Amino acid sequence: RADHQPDPAKGAAVKAADRAHVFHSWSAQELIEPLAVAGAQGSYFWDYDGNTYLDFSSGLVNANIGYQHPKVVAAIQEQAGRMTTFAPAYAIDVRAEAARLVAERTPGDLDKIFFTNGGAEAVENAVRMARLHTGRPKVLSAYRSYHGATSGAINLTGDPRRWPSDTASAGVVHFWGPYPYRSPFHSDSPEQECERALSHLADLIAFEGPQSIAAIILETVVGTAGVLVPPEGYLAGVRALCDRYGIVFVLDEVMAGFGRTGRWFAADHWDVVPDLMTFAKGVNSGYVPLGGVAISAEIAATFATRPYPGGLTYSGHPLACASAVATINAMREERIVENAADLGERVIGPALREIADRHPSVGEVRGMGVFWALDLVRSKETREPLVPYNPSAADNAPMGAFAAACKKNGLWPFVNMNRTHVVPPCTITEAEAKEGLAILDEALTTADGFTV
Ligand code: PLP
Repeated sequence: RADHQPDPAKGAAVKAADRAHVFHSWSAQELIEPLAVAGAQGSYFWDYDGNTYLDFSSGLVNANIGYQHPKVVAAIQEQAGRMTTFAPAYAIDVRAEAARLVAERTPGDLDKIFFTNGGAEAVENAVRMARLHTGRPKVLSAYRSYHGATSGAINLTGDPRRWPSDTASAGVVHFWGPYPYRSPFHSDSPEQECERALSHLADLIAFEGPQSIAAIILETVVGTAGVLVPPEGYLAGVRALCDRYGIVFVLDEVMAGFGRTGRWFAADHWDVVPDLMTFAKGVNSGYVPLGGVAISAEIAATFATRPYPGGLTYSGHPLACASAVATINAMREERIVENAADLGERVIGPALREIADRHPSVGEVRGMGVFWALDLVRSKETREPLVPYNPSAADNAPMGAFAAACKKNGLWPFVNMNRTHVVPPCTITEAEAKEGLAILDEALTTADGFTV
């Protein structure tokens, strides 16, 4: 499939060098054995031992345009030959063009773009902008969410990764968003879930004091915490609450943005316009670190004559911006967002639903575009998750066995707690998607073995 020769000796050397000096994120250093990756192309990557994997994880759900897209690689090379770095305070052609291309696609009047080096930093700045704009201290964020790993962003995060972190930052208050399959509100329909989730949020605002709340931050479609597609009316309801109380509405589209849901932004599915929108990952498929905040006219005006106190040495880095320009242009020219929408609706969604019907371990299928999750259960009847929330290594055996079964047959899955997510590049072909779905189907018999 790819022009590469196995080289196990080099693989062993890479692993030894990695073990000697690389300190890995989110890991117990001596309990991990990272795969030594030799190369990647399109929807595939390979190791030094002759194994090739179809990537149903898009790296960290970021390689939306696939690996080594020739137009993006060429743009980075061209930019490197012209100008590799220049400080954020200057007007640079590729920075201005990247901002224009992003602003052209963001909804409503989100027309000013503040570039960052990734998603967490975008979230940090969105919160800072909201606090300065409103003069209020508190931020509300949802349980079952992920907003990044820097100090402020991890405190907004609503999953177990927050627990061992810095002391919770003052003013962050968590609420429950909708999750019809395991409803925090004991509702029995998406409509009721929407109504109850909005009423819970309205109560929380009343008891926290609307005049003290700067922002509500939400993932438009919750990503890492389970691909939770909001019920009809939920985002509009949150928008209305924000309008009523002058609260800044922040949509975090770091994972959902740039094609993953089959639209440029997930917000487009519901015609909702936030005041601030964070993005990263798909903006340039992670070829060079980049993220940003899209800012409404009203919030931008707050900083018209008052300096915005934020920015880093590498904000809006020319190499990153050049890769964003090439990525967005390639996505448009090659109809990559349309491909994600079409495959999701015609191939991936129907196949996953059919798979779910046949496997006792699949409780629910959720998603859109190339953004799907299978919620795995011990019993379809009780909906008890296949592994407990925040599983220990021992508890995690069923998911470990399922992931190993995928990898043995050449599929690299995205596994998180009791779920496997189907999040391939937006460029995946129909044949590749079917190949991956067949492997997933077979591997689920391993998960079925753990049901009761
Ligand atoms: N927000 C969301 C919704 C994310 O999914 C992520 C990363 O997965 C982040 C923020 C953090 O992005 P980064 O890892 O680029 O800092």
